[in-house]
Amino acid sequence: MIPIYRPFIDEQERCAILEAFDSGWISSKGEFIKKFENSFSKFISKSYGVSVSNGTVALHLALAALGIGKGDEVIVPNLTFAATANAAIYQGASPVFVDVEKENWGLDPELLEKAITSKTKAIIAVHLYGNPCKISEIKEVAEKNDVHLIEDCAEAIGAKYGKHKVGSFGDISCFSFYGNKIITTGEGGMCLTDDKYLEEQMRILRDHGMSQTKRYWHDTIGFNYRMTNIQASIGLAQLNKVEHILERKRNIATAYQDYLVNYIEKQVDPPNSESVFWLYSILAASENERAYVVSKLDEAAIESRPFFFSLSSMPPYKQFRTVLGKNKITFDLSNRGLNLPSFPSISIDQIGAVSDVVNNSIKYFRNL
Ligand SMILES: *Cc1c(COP(=O)(O)O)cnc(C)c1O
Repeated sequence: MIPIYRPFIDEQERCAILEAFDSGWISSKGEFIKKFENSFSKFISKSYGVSVSNGTVALHLALAALGIGKGDEVIVPNLTFAATANAAIYQGASPVFVDVEKENWGLDPELLEKAITSKTKAIIAVHLYGNPCKISEIKEVAEKNDVHLIEDCAEAIGAKYGKHKVGSFGDISCFSFYGNKIITTGEGGMCLTDDKYLEEQMRILRDHGMSQTKRYWHDTIGFNYRMTNIQASIGLAQLNKVEHILERKRNIATAYQDYLVNYIEKQVDPPNSESVFWLYSILAASENERAYVVSKLDEAAIESRPFFFSLSSMPPYKQFRTVLGKNKITFDLSNRGLNLPSFPSISIDQIGAVSDVVNNSIKYFRNL
């Protein structure tokens, strides 16, 4: 069985967990939390890091700190994980689904501009499957229209747009450290910002809305979204090896690009970007071809995963506004995209075995 993903953890994480455990600080106080926040914000090049219990609440906390609420619209890509849109709905705001671009699978800046109304208060740009979206252009649109920009970097830790890491562009950028993300803390997440006020708001809201100076005094209704010291200890150990993980991810992508035949559409670095190839992906020629490839991978005990469904097509989201481009790229990618096994410790032989099944099944399906 070749899985899609498995965490890249060893004795170093094990020792870190034991150190946190032995210190007695197993909840959300302890030295590892601050260290992890500082090291991770430095890695991305943002001033402040606020760790949280997962990536979904990172997005919710960001919107809450920005004061997004009832009556507001939040633009999200139509092709993303549901959590991106759910965070807006938790705040009583309405997500607006905007079509994505073919080259990078992220928000189309031109459509984005057309989708903005007087109700639009925030944009959540997502870097999907490791690919940076056109975040500089999106930032320009956000600034021009006086709309907050949040980056959802859950799938793209370490990716670069131009010279800069994704997560360094937004007013707030959100990360996930779930077990299958580039680095993991088991469950976990982080919000980064350069804005001292937003950092403070996030710290207060993360901790029940409690005053930072007067204990048990609440000026606002907050949440318990804190990360534990044990999670942070794992995160620090992971951060020590993040460059190694990213190098492995790049080598995995290169190996797939070499092994897979040329008439398959393969994931490559978008223009001006360095992808981290979170889940190495291909595009089949049609939905039926993809289903055939998946059936052959299943037979060979190789796990694969179709791209996300468009959010606008699912029952809880149909009530919200959708802005499609003339080529409706989201629907096309959603029908044809397939994620392949991409865990950092996958061997070259395993990549070869996966590629053989993909190559042969497509060849057969197309009568080549
Ligand atoms: C994983 C993920 C999240 C949510 O992170 P969790 O830690 O699982 O809550 C949000 N957005 C995207 C794009 C993700 O891939």
